[in-house]
Amino acid sequence: MKKQLLLISFTLFLASFSLNGTENKIKSSTQETKVTICTGNSATKYHKTNKCRGLNACKGEKKTVTMKEAEKWGRTKCKICYKQ
Ligand SMILES: [Zn+2]
Repeated sequence: MKKQLLLISFTLFLASFSLNGTENKIKSSTQETKVTICTGNSATKYHKTNKCRGLNACKGEKKTVTMKEAEKWGRTKCKICYKQ
């Protein structure tokens, strides 16, 4: 009986471990998502699509980068194309 309990807790441990692994995978794939940024000085957002009207005011160059790179540029999510 005791042995069985140990096995169950071990299985639960493994299950939670693999769940964490999946979570990390999702997180890293989000980081690889391509977004569009404007390289202009006044731009502060990154966009899901290069057709976003938030890019109309862009004075610089439109550039496709990963979400990770966009964050390095100090960009935050555009409220127009990332509606919550
Ligand atoms: Zn946008």
